[in-house]
Amino acid sequence: MCCAVLCVSTVIAEVRVDAQTPAGNIVVERVEGDQVYLHQERRGSTQWWFYWAFRVRGAEGRTLTFHFTDGDPVGTRGPAVSDDQGLAWRWLNRDFTKNSFTYNFKPAESEAWFAFGMVYTQRDWERFITRFEGSPFLEKGQLAVTRKGRPVEKLRLGCIRSAPRCRVLLTARHHACEMMASYVLEGIIGGVLADDEKGRWLRENVEFLVVPFVDKDGVEDGDQGKNRAPRDHNRDYDGASVHVETAAIRGQVPQWAGGKLAVALDLHCPYIRGEYNEWAYQVGSADTNLWAQQQAFGKLLEKIEPNPLAYRQANDLPHGKAWNTAANYKQGLSAVGWAAALPGVRLAGSFEIPYATANAAEVTALSARQFGANLATAMGQYLGAPGKP
Ligand SMILES: [Zn+2]
Repeated sequence: MCCAVLCVSTVIAEVRVDAQTPAGNIVVERVEGDQVYLHQERRGSTQWWFYWAFRVRGAEGRTLTFHFTDGDPVGTRGPAVSDDQGLAWRWLNRDFTKNSFTYNFKPAESEAWFAFGMVYTQRDWERFITRFEGSPFLEKGQLAVTRKGRPVEKLRLGCIRSAPRCRVLLTARHHACEMMASYVLEGIIGGVLADDEKGRWLRENVEFLVVPFVDKDGVEDGDQGKNRAPRDHNRDYDGASVHVETAAIRGQVPQWAGGKLAVALDLHCPYIRGEYNEWAYQVGSADTNLWAQQQAFGKLLEKIEPNPLAYRQANDLPHGKAWNTAANYKQGLSAVGWAAALPGVRLAGSFEIPYATANAAEVTALSARQFGANLATAMGQYLGAPGKP
């Protein structure tokens, strides 16, 4: 009896919750029995945001409920969960509310990671890009060094050893926490490097420049990044740039483009839930010509089957509707707003990839990558690859 009591109290004492993971972000307030009270650590953002990520150890065989005390930061499918220290993630998809979730730790489950979404940082990028080591169709480089001394990766991809027909700029993580966009980016790169007709055409005709983590410090540190003070990375494209990363893009891209930049796509994730946050969509440009090009591109994309994120061109957000108004850009020009003014650009826009739910589809690493491959296919069609959708 004494032993049993002792064992139970020992196990309870061993539950450890911390943010010692890539992009970790949590403040643990208290643990009361099986109830854990915590909140996301908001860093540097001017508005409430919902990103968090933490690990739990020492909870084998127990059922714990995690209560968030700062707003409703649990998404539409509950937390993302990883049993292998962040290599693979799944949505819990059960036992959650907007501000809590309950998890049954298996008897041998000594460690589990939980996060608002499927965390993606530099180590994931390196694991992905290493698969293509030795390929003549990519060249790794460095765009800049962050304020904290980290490298900001850039990647030249596709037609890089001869003069391309045109060029494409791909950027992601202007907002650090928008990690599902990174799986889409993997899918685009995979599509360009695929051993098929579509990939071959892109490699022979199009040079891509990829900046996978614009706010690299924010990504690695686990910041929200959205509405960052004093200036959001994606409003840092006019006047003097506040951030070294955006300054580097503005400094280097025009020269690299050489007047041949045709497309600039910037990948994002939207808000946590609700209309326009539970489907994939393009953010419509205020420029009617650009908006017409976005719609044309969206129509190509929608026709590609299978359509893993159930993308519908009709879901695109025209300028002037919902949050997409002039007031939203009063802090400064966005990346694609800036890129649109470069010589030759036909299509410049942001794509919003929901974190968890896209119409009827579940957003996962796999479905987001498949959607990215479709984006590569649609870009080929848009840029003149032979064959009709
Ligand atoms: Zn964003």
